[in-house]
Amino acid sequence: MPTPYNMAFACLNCRKSFKRKFDLSAQCPSELTCPDCGGEAHNFGRHFKSPKKSDLKQWEKVAFLFDHGFRFQKIRIGPGHHDVIPYPDTLDQAKEFVVKYKEYAYKSGKNT
Ligand SMILES: [Zn+2]
Repeated sequence: MPTPYNMAFACLNCRKSFKRKFDLSAQCPSELTCPDCGGEAHNFGRHFKSPKKSDLKQWEKVAFLFDHGFRFQKIRIGPGHHDVIPYPDTLDQAKEFVVKYKEYAYKSGKNT
């Protein structure tokens, strides 16, 4: 039996996130249509924690990270890749983060 799991999608226009269930074996789309504005809602994976809709600064950070190829994928470094790098809390931290970990960014803006 395939185990369904939740993937988080977020629309950066509406600052809205929602979840969809997928099977692990199934192909998961990198974009869905936003139910509110009809624009693109991007796949932010299983680890995304949505900011409050009113928290513009946090959404700005999310959009910034997204633009640089970070979709809240786990970034593992160190021996055996056991150390998971926490995502930045603020936009200022995010600006350092995308430089420091740019080799872990998604290249084309698509999940591969
Ligand atoms: Zn939307």
